[in-house]
Amino acid sequence: MDCVFCSIAEKKIPSSIVYEDDQVVAFHDIHPEAPVHILIIPKKHIQSLALIAEENKELMAGILYAAANIAKEQGIEENGYRVVTNIGNDGGQTVGHLHFHLLGGRSMKWPPG
Ligand code: 5GP
Ligand code: ZN
Repeated sequence: MDCVFCSIAEKKIPSSIVYEDDQVVAFHDIHPEAPVHILIIPKKHIQSLALIAEENKELMAGILYAAANIAKEQGIEENGYRVVTNIGNDGGQTVGHLHFHLLGGRSMKWPPG
């Protein structure tokens, strides 16, 4: 399967990795929309949040736990930040491998466009 985020997780294409464990990897977004813009992904290919199964519950918790820790490391914890995952066409998902955006370092607008 040709998936850019699987290739990043397998280190077949380079990325700027900020965190990694046995199930999760996090790296800087190639087109940052904020001073801090990191993507957190499962190493295992799951298309989107819509496709998670019961066996993925711990993995999802691990991703959010990693997000909170990375935010701390990046120094954005005090001012706040946003964690978001886009799902499918209406959600604005462009890469079909589940990923959570960690965005911070500036004030976010709500609601998003
Ligand atoms: P989506 O729109 O699917 O929620 O987000 C996909 C994100 O992946 C975008 O913010 C885009 O900039 C980022 N992205 C796409 N291809 C690459 C890549 O090859 N490397 C990195 N680091 N980020 C990528
Ligand atoms: Zn993938």
